[in-house]
Amino acid sequence: MPMYEYRCQECGKLYEQLRRMSEADTNLQCPACGSEKVQRQVSACAFTGGASGGSSGGGCAPRGGFS
Ligand SMILES: [Zn+2]
Repeated sequence: MPMYEYRCQECGKLYEQLRRMSEADTNLQCPACGSEKVQRQVSACAFTGGASGGSSGGGCAPRGGFS
């Protein structure tokens, strides 16, 4: 399951959550102030396989795959 990073637009709190891709932008709520004005951040290392560094090539390396 991908890990997403979110920032609360009310209090500025930055936090991470494991979510399904299909639910990445649903039911967002800041854990600090409870605001629903939360924006998902673009993460360079979105996937955590459970075994850190277990997959081939170290999944966190920026490869410039986007744009
Ligand atoms: Zn907040």
